Amino acid sequence: MSEFDLIKRLQEIISIKPAAGHPSCVIGIGDDGAVLAVPPGRQLVVTTDTMVEAVHFRSRSAACDLGYKALAVNLSDLASMGAEPAWFFLALTLPSADSAWLESFAQGMADLAGTSGIELAGGDTTSGPLSITITALGLVETGKALTRSGAQEGDLLVVSGTLGDAAFALHTMNAGGTPDIASRNALDRPVPRLQLGRCLQELATSCIDVSDGLLADLGHILLASGKGAEIELERLPGSNSMNALEESERLELQTAGGDDYELCFTIPPQRRSELEQIEKETGNRLTVIGEITASGELLCKTPDGGIYLPMKRGYEHFSRNEAGDK
Ligand code: ADP
Ligand code: MG
Repeated sequence: MSEFDLIKRLQEIISIKPAAGHPSCVIGIGDDGAVLAVPPGRQLVVTTDTMVEAVHFRSRSAACDLGYKALAVNLSDLASMGAEPAWFFLALTLPSADSAWLESFAQGMADLAGTSGIELAGGDTTSGPLSITITALGLVETGKALTRSGAQEGDLLVVSGTLGDAAFALHTMNAGGTPDIASRNALDRPVPRLQLGRCLQELATSCIDVSDGLLADLGHILLASGKGAEIELERLPGSNSMNALEESERLELQTAGGDDYELCFTIPPQRRSELEQIEKETGNRLTVIGEITASGELLCKTPDGGIYLPMKRGYEHFSRNEAGDK
């Protein structure tokens, strides 16, 4: 397969037909640059994320899962900003032009591009060690993007879905076991909470997606907002798959495991009742896990009134706890 055949094939498989009303690109793949028109009254939200073999995924990962996940992690960033997906760019470095691998990779990506309504508008293709970089562009009503910096003292701290499933799947595989389907899907096929992010636009005071672990990502909200938080550990939403684990192991996966791609956000306490309607609308479970304080500290309270001291807060590249798969 030549570079140009490869690009053509990617385009054929991934290209979606933009729905009516979707801002399609003026000029897409085939020119030296894409031309995109931002509709009046809206702003662009731009995010980029790279996935590298052996750092972000296992070398034996299925190509379709890699294609899906590379796009999913970028869409999750758009979700946490409250943006609606519009276009994406795919910079792909491949060790060889293996057409079966490429078809599967593109199909995995196409599945998610189709359901989330995002259009492939360009990219770059090179040979080298496997690495996938996506830049995703979304649209948000002017001035309405959700950020990390607006949390207020007394705000309730909320997370979507369950925490720790993806880390549990990885933990199980690293120990030579086979994870249950639900945990495996959480790891390989995380669902970006796009509809939830849109619903939170008029409600949340701050928002982030949980990619590196709850404590690490919540830490970013606290730093940006100049606040602290108290979490009630027994409230952390978890799935039954983890019931057999020791309490300390489960807590570590839930607070620092990462790869959850759930949203963690804050809302004013008097608006708590609105969560139920959003749960119904989006089908996403929403759990209040604590509240924002003025202290600047992040405290995790155990059911007996003690304080939990985490072994680690989450994944960080270049840190000493960096260990193979992320
Ligand atoms: P140039 O050499 O001028 O940078 P390229 O040959 O890299 O152009 O790309 C030609 C066209 O194909 C461009 O529109 C580019 O955006 C698109 N393209 C290249 N690689 C990819 C890819 N992996 N996915 C989508 N579009 C791609
Ligand atoms: Mg050029």
